[in-house]
Amino acid sequence: MSNFSRRSFLKASAGATALGVLGMPLVSYGAGAKVVVVGGGTGGGTAAKYIKMMDPSIDVTLIEKNEFYYTCYLSNEVLGGDRTMDQIKFGYDGMKGHGVNVVIDEVTAIDAKAKKVTTKGGDFAYDKLIVSPGVDFKFDGIEGYDATVAEEIPHAWKAGPQTATLRKQLEAMDDGGTVVICPPTNPFRCPPGPYERASQIAHYLTKHKPKSKIIIQDPKQKFSKQGLFKQGWKDLYGFGTDNSMIEWAGGDDNALAKVDAKTKTITNGFGDEIKADVLNIIPPQKAGKIAFDAGLTNDKGWCPVDLGTFESTLHKDVYVIGDSSVATGMPKSGYAANTQGKVCAAAVIAAIKGTDMAKQAFVNTCYSIVGTDYGISVAAVYELGTDKDKGTPKINKLSGGLSAEDASATSRAREVQYAYSWYNNITSDIFK
Ligand SMILES: Cc1cc2nc3c(=O)[nH]c(=O)nc-3n(C[C@H](O)[C@H](O)[C@H](O)COP(=O)(O)OP(=O)(O)OC[C@H]3O[C@@H](n4cnc5c(N)ncnc54)[C@H](O)[C@@H]3O)c2cc1C
Repeated sequence: MSNFSRRSFLKASAGATALGVLGMPLVSYGAGAKVVVVGGGTGGGTAAKYIKMMDPSIDVTLIEKNEFYYTCYLSNEVLGGDRTMDQIKFGYDGMKGHGVNVVIDEVTAIDAKAKKVTTKGGDFAYDKLIVSPGVDFKFDGIEGYDATVAEEIPHAWKAGPQTATLRKQLEAMDDGGTVVICPPTNPFRCPPGPYERASQIAHYLTKHKPKSKIIIQDPKQKFSKQGLFKQGWKDLYGFGTDNSMIEWAGGDDNALAKVDAKTKTITNGFGDEIKADVLNIIPPQKAGKIAFDAGLTNDKGWCPVDLGTFESTLHKDVYVIGDSSVATGMPKSGYAANTQGKVCAAAVIAAIKGTDMAKQAFVNTCYSIVGTDYGISVAAVYELGTDKDKGTPKINKLSGGLSAEDASATSRAREVQYAYSWYNNITSDIFK
């Protein structure tokens, strides 16, 4: 899949590159231009590497606060016990090998007027800035729950130490224990993620603590790949029977109203109290903090952008990609951030060189591993267009679909191998 988007990207960027080569055979128009990228995760890492690959004469600096990046994708497998933290950990040597100047530091301010980024260690001037800080959490609104409580009751929605903590809590739980998962309201990072998480925890418990239960208290009535997940839970974990390991309850009244962190008891909108042995609250989300500090967010807490280039509609020469952006029509996923990083790289180069940009192409596939040899997916190819009802810009789906509901066991098993292959491709595409 990653190869597909690389091909689309090369096709899309061919016009800009050819113009640069024709205009100045030895030194391109981009020579000396400074691009700063904030956030070395999926979106930012992709954009930084691809700008450098397309035009090595552009000076690209990537600023990332952590020395290592843990992928959220396949982090649910760490919870399920089939993958280690080391297997989802990536450093920045590969990116440095492509000529990206990697700075490990935290960006504390962006001055869009002065075109300057400030970190704890110093200032960085830019001609074009790309911001991909991922998500932050809305801790207000849930009584008894905040960022400090979230250290003990981990959301694990940014892979890293919290993923390891949640795994340890699952390991320490007695057989017969109850795991309660509280997914967030829309929109949020990785729509199928909470349900893949429930599946992976069930996969672990079935093998090691079969008397245990997982209760999902969902504020939504519908969720991504719902039919396929429920089918998988039925096939593997007895869903729909009295002995089901997973129970799902969805709708407004199931939203989390209150948390008693000491007893790990939640209260939902019905006033029901549910006591957990392991509690996983995934809070509602908003754009990464630096996007707020930089004035890049709208009243809903996300960053509006021109969908053709990902340039902020609020600040010129600043581009926002990945989960923080309002990429109308696309989900907040790693593959979406990766594909947006490539379109944005081409747009930034075209803007630097003063050339037209070739037609954008977008792609997304999201695999979920429900259990042993049981994978499901949703995939789509998109193009830039307009919302047919509102007439506003939208990234429209051209084609795509879901795994078949009646797929054979061989097909389900094959999807797990596709998921691993996708993972190897996308992580190589960004970090190698
Ligand atoms: C459990 C789970 C499973 C998932 N599974 C999948 C999947 O199977 N497929 C899929 O496509 N997607 C999946 N996702 C979603 C995917 O991980 C995100 O959509 C993707 O990482 C978004 O990329 P991003 O660049 O916006 O943010 P990130 O990848 O989170 O990168 C943001 C980076 O910015 C850095 N940063 C933030 N602020 C600053 C600052 N001030 N200074 C310096 N650095 C900063 C952060 O440290 C981070 O490295 C999953 C997510 C979760 C939680």
